[in-house]
Amino acid sequence: MDCRTGAIWDERYLAYDFGDHPLNPVRLDLTIRLARELGVLDRLDVTAPVPADEVQLLTVHDADYLAAVRRASDDPTFSGFGLGTSDDPVFPGMYEASALVAGGSAQAALRMWNGEVDHAVNIAGGLHHAMQGYASGFCIFNDVVLAIRTLLAAGAKKVAYVDIDVHHGDGVQAAFYDDPRVLTISLHQDPRTLFPGTGLASEIGSGTAEGTAVNVALPPGTDDVGWLRAFRAVVPSAVRAFGPDVLVTQCGCDTHHEDPLANLELTVDGQRTAITELHRLAHEITGGKWVAFGGGGYGLIRCVPRTWTHLLAEATGRTVPADAAIPPGWIEHLRSRGVRGELPATMGERPVPEVRAWEPGGEGWLDGAIGATRRAVFPLLGLDPDDPRD
Ligand SMILES: [Zn+2]
Ligand SMILES: [Zn+2]
Repeated sequence: MDCRTGAIWDERYLAYDFGDHPLNPVRLDLTIRLARELGVLDRLDVTAPVPADEVQLLTVHDADYLAAVRRASDDPTFSGFGLGTSDDPVFPGMYEASALVAGGSAQAALRMWNGEVDHAVNIAGGLHHAMQGYASGFCIFNDVVLAIRTLLAAGAKKVAYVDIDVHHGDGVQAAFYDDPRVLTISLHQDPRTLFPGTGLASEIGSGTAEGTAVNVALPPGTDDVGWLRAFRAVVPSAVRAFGPDVLVTQCGCDTHHEDPLANLELTVDGQRTAITELHRLAHEITGGKWVAFGGGGYGLIRCVPRTWTHLLAEATGRTVPADAAIPPGWIEHLRSRGVRGELPATMGERPVPEVRAWEPGGEGWLDGAIGATRRAVFPLLGLDPDDPRD
C-alpha cells in the first residue's frame, strides 16, 4: 500500500542541543542522511517546522514555566523548574529550539487531520517527559501533549496514544489522566528499575477516565519476542475497544539492546515490527489517521538512524528490507566525521523469531506483568482480561 505521508523536518531542529549529553542531535542528522541515501526522503512530503507560539504552548504549560524557559534561554546560570540540571541543562536559544520541536508536532497533527497527508511523522518530537510546570528527562516542552490538544481542538473526539519508548510516557499520561477522550498506553521497562519511576499497571486514569491510562511494565532484559508478546496482548484490543478517531505514537527506540541508558534487549528488527503493527492498527481502526513521533534513543549511530528510517519508510507504505545494504555514502559520511569502530552493514540485525501469544495464567515476570495490565484495565474497556482473543 502506498500512503501519502508528510514529514516535518529541517536542520534548525539540530539546535535542540544540550551539549555533552546523551540526547545528541546528531541522531536526527544521521537518520535524515540515511533516509535520503535510501531514497526514503524522496517519497515523503517534507515541510519545515514552524515554532509553536505562546498561545499554543499555554495549552500545555504554565505561564511561569514558559517565562522560566525564556530566561534560561538567555542566562546560562539559570536553574529552577527542572532546568539547569544534569538531565535538562540550559543552553542558549533553548526556548526557540524547544518551541520549534513542539510546533513541528502540532503541524504534523494538523496536516494529517486536515487531510493534506494520510500520516505525518516528526522524528524530532516525542518529548514525552515534559510536565505542565517543569522540565524533565531531556524534555522541555511536551510536543506530544500539544499535538493531542491540537487534534482535540480541531475536532477529534477520541485520541489513542501509544508510547513504545523504553521509559514511561509520564508527561503525556499526566496531562490526560482525568480526560476520557484520550487513551494513553505506554510499554516500558519496569519503573522500579528505571527513570521516571512511574508507569505501574495500577495507574489506570482517574474519575470518568478510569481505564484510559494503560501501563505495561516490562522486566529488564525483555527481548523482541517478549516485547511483541506484551504489545500484542494489550495494545490492539485496548485501542480497538476505545475506538479513537486518530492514533498518535511515540516511537522512542531506547529499547535497543545496545542503548546506554536502559536495559531492554530489542533489535532494530523488533522495533521495526512494532512500528509496522502500529501502522496497520491505524489503517484498521482510525481510517489510517496516524501521527508518529520520535522520542528516546541513545544508540546514536547503530540504532536510531536505522529504526527511524524504517519508521519514515513504513509510514510511506514502502518498507526498506532488513537485508538492504547500508549505503556507502552514509558510511563515508561517518568516517569523514572521524567515527571509528564497526558500523552496521545492513538495515536489520537478525530476523525476529516466532512470537508465542500470551495466555492467561502465564508465570514469570513478563507474563505476570502482562496479566496485571489486562486485569487492571480490560474490564473498564469492556474486555475480558482472561480471554486471549481480547
Ligand atoms: Zn498507511
Ligand atoms: Zn526514553
